[in-house]
Amino acid sequence: MKNSITLGGITVASGQKVSQYVTVPGTECKFPITIINGANDGKTILASAGIHGCEYPGVLTVVELAKEIDPKDVSGAIILTHEINMSGFLERQTYVMPEDPKRKNLNRLFPGDPNGTLADKLCLFLMDEFVAKSDFHVDIHSGDMVEELEACVIACAPKESENNKFAAEIAKHLSFKWRMNSGGRHEFYNSSSIDRNIPSMLFERGGSGKWTREEVDANKKDLKTVMQCLNILPGEPKINTEQKFFKRHEWTESDVEGMIFNFVKVGDDIKEGQKLFEVQDMFGNHIKDINAKFDGHVVIITNTLAVNKGDDLITYGEV
Ligand SMILES: [Zn+2]
Repeated sequence: MKNSITLGGITVASGQKVSQYVTVPGTECKFPITIINGANDGKTILASAGIHGCEYPGVLTVVELAKEIDPKDVSGAIILTHEINMSGFLERQTYVMPEDPKRKNLNRLFPGDPNGTLADKLCLFLMDEFVAKSDFHVDIHSGDMVEELEACVIACAPKESENNKFAAEIAKHLSFKWRMNSGGRHEFYNSSSIDRNIPSMLFERGGSGKWTREEVDANKKDLKTVMQCLNILPGEPKINTEQKFFKRHEWTESDVEGMIFNFVKVGDDIKEGQKLFEVQDMFGNHIKDINAKFDGHVVIITNTLAVNKGDDLITYGEV
């Protein structure tokens, strides 16, 4: 029998599973988590859901897997956060953490700050207690209330490294139609790789504040495939030969606030120079057009009339 493990103050004996709330030390902030300590030796995976409060497919993916996975089948350990941003979830708030005095977006704060507000401390706790004790990290997102998307997997790859190649190799086995590499910085999964040297990836599936059985099942299958690639669960996954890779992609943020009008939708193929959005002020006056920087395919788009400075608008990639 292997040893017990302690994560976030929770000790789990070999071959056991514990589901409970964990509290961020020195605060009242708590969130639900499951830790599965397998009967056999192996790697540890962190699968996190709920950095954003209304991204439901990921929450159900983790809640269901936490019940279904038998520790007897596990070599190593599985850490599942069911919903990190509980106040965002219960208050149905897009992106932000309402419990934080500054209502910050957790996914802009990693690797966290011990001298920051509650949200910064939560991020640091996640990094120190869970990421640092893992061998691989999958952060599960979807389009939140305001975004629609085509499912895609993003391997963290800010620069060439063994970690990045490893994450990209695993991503090739997943059922996602689209795969790309991240060049980001302060998101949870990027910070795992950049700041803690833990290979990582992001799932994006579902959106618009909804969830479907198909999305949850596809996430569960893909998460199990990652675990199989890491030899945490038995099975020999095959490469998905249908998957397409974006050799470059563009995330466009708005640099103004006002009203935004979409001229394209998710799934569209677009041409360089094509008009994607028009932004107007609150009197209906034209502020600017936003045009495509290169030929590509639209995978994520924001669908609200309101837009703030710094809001994500669109993601498109070049195959
Ligand atoms: Zn998200």
